[in-house]
Amino acid sequence: MAILIVAEHDNKVLQTATLSVLSAATELAQHTDDRELHLLIIGYECQSVVEIAQGIAGVSQILVSDHQIYQSPLAENIASLIVSAAQEQSSADYSHILTSASTSGKDYQPRVAALLDVAQISDIISIESADTFKRPIYAGKAIATVQSIDRIKVITVRSSVFMPVLLITGNKVPITVLNPQADSGKSTFINAALTQSSRPELTTAKVIVAGGRGMKNAENFKLLDTLADQLNGAVGASRAAVDAGFVANDLQIGQTGKIVAPDLYIAVGISGAIQHIAGISGSKVIVAINNDPDAPIFDIADYGLVADLFEVLPELTTVLKVKG
Ligand SMILES: Cc1cc2nc3c(=O)[nH]c(=O)nc-3n(C[C@H](O)[C@H](O)[C@H](O)COP(=O)(O)OP(=O)(O)OC[C@H]3O[C@@H](n4cnc5c(N)ncnc54)[C@H](O)[C@@H]3O)c2cc1C
Repeated sequence: MAILIVAEHDNKVLQTATLSVLSAATELAQHTDDRELHLLIIGYECQSVVEIAQGIAGVSQILVSDHQIYQSPLAENIASLIVSAAQEQSSADYSHILTSASTSGKDYQPRVAALLDVAQISDIISIESADTFKRPIYAGKAIATVQSIDRIKVITVRSSVFMPVLLITGNKVPITVLNPQADSGKSTFINAALTQSSRPELTTAKVIVAGGRGMKNAENFKLLDTLADQLNGAVGASRAAVDAGFVANDLQIGQTGKIVAPDLYIAVGISGAIQHIAGISGSKVIVAINNDPDAPIFDIADYGLVADLFEVLPELTTVLKVKG
């Protein structure tokens, strides 16, 4: 029996989220005897990803399909390859197919489940046994324990909850090349408009400075940029700030945004609505700056400052500048 992990990458670098999914898979393997971990890499000209992946501790097989058809990550094509890998590598007899609960994972994994005629188990945060998992529901207000009796468990993992596994040098995991599947013809890639940023990615950042409607406008977000740069952190936002057009929507944190788990989360001018909290509850330390002492964010903050953000932020950045 084996567990199949679908890698996330940009054809050059393996995403840290995959190392966290591998950590979840390692834990899963401990619940049953004799489980191998196989990593599936689907991409185009993705040799450097394969080389990185060969250094992953605990992986016994890497399956690669490197073809132009996978240059754009179309969920229909990816799902059909995952299903064929699960069926054709019959000697492996996959018990679980795991990937991260990222935008892409949420896109193709339900299709994989449908093609295999099994349920999909979404966004797991803990592994109770080989068939039982915990996952947040109602925007994280409650945790459901779900059990699946399906022959293959198709799962997305909340990667921020699991510590990434280590990469080791000198490791050479064997590679199996998989033939590409025919283009489904159901969707066509038109273009991707990607935000370029030198700051860390929100889902893996150790420090996040996030702003809400209290920032008042896009121009004021520069105050947060300065603070984030001083702390080597990422900038995030509430949905209200995104909806008001202060920042791009890929900065949104929360139930319908990104789930983050930094060491330090600084919420500035954010009220702390339940849908926002749903995305930040994995943060180790939460600091809130808000001029309303009754703002709900103070109920969950480790440190709270009742003050006008337009006075506090310049003071804070000046102090940090002095301290270097
Ligand atoms: C289905 C659904 C999904 C949603 N998903 C998300 C989501 O993913 N993420 C998300 O964030 N929201 C989400 N929301 C919206 C959510 O309910 C809130 O409306 C939103 O989080 C509020 O954003 P905010 O805290 O920035 O704004 P507000 O609630 O308007 O709060 C602004 C805060 O700024 C403070 N403030 C104002 N001026 C200053 C100042 N000068 N100094 C200091 N503080 C100041 C105010 O006291 C206030 O607390 C969702 C809602 C729904 C219905």
